Amino acid sequence: MHRLSTAERKKRAIERAQHIKLILLDVDGVLTDGSLIYGNDGTELKVFNVHDGFGIRRAIELGLRIGIITGRQSEIVRRRAAELGITDIYEDFLDKLKPYAEVKSMYGLKDEEVAYMGDELFDISLLKAVGLSAAPSNARSEVRAVVYYVTRAAGGNGAVRELIELILMSQGRSLEEA
Ligand SMILES: [Mg+2]
Repeated sequence: MHRLSTAERKKRAIERAQHIKLILLDVDGVLTDGSLIYGNDGTELKVFNVHDGFGIRRAIELGLRIGIITGRQSEIVRRRAAELGITDIYEDFLDKLKPYAEVKSMYGLKDEEVAYMGDELFDISLLKAVGLSAAPSNARSEVRAVVYYVTRAAGGNGAVRELIELILMSQGRSLEEA
């Protein structure tokens, strides 16, 4: 895959994006920039991106399903997901293939109909399983080497929005449509 030019890669990503019905997202390093901020009282804070958030809400309104599979557990993630209308949240899964199998069978989807964006080594098995694999620009290089689509934006800075726009565009749609 890494021998392909950027243009060829993007062409393949667009072909694969046409079939996507479910977008699964990692949290740390994808929906966030990967920072874990700890308060003195032990609370954990994360910074999310409004452009990603708007993209997610609109994508759901337009009929795409969006889910979260994360290796960590956090109240903040559940709160952000609720705000955006994401109901499929799988927390505390370093082996992401298990929740993947569950969500796929729940909606009766094939691998070709699922996209996943991740940034870390333990995302690779799931990235290899889905129809469209994606990574933010600041993902680990081992991850960027195996995915179909590397966004221009970094995690927590619009990478998810870029993936959503690619998928909608490949399906002849856009975030601006009514
Ligand atoms: Mg991550």
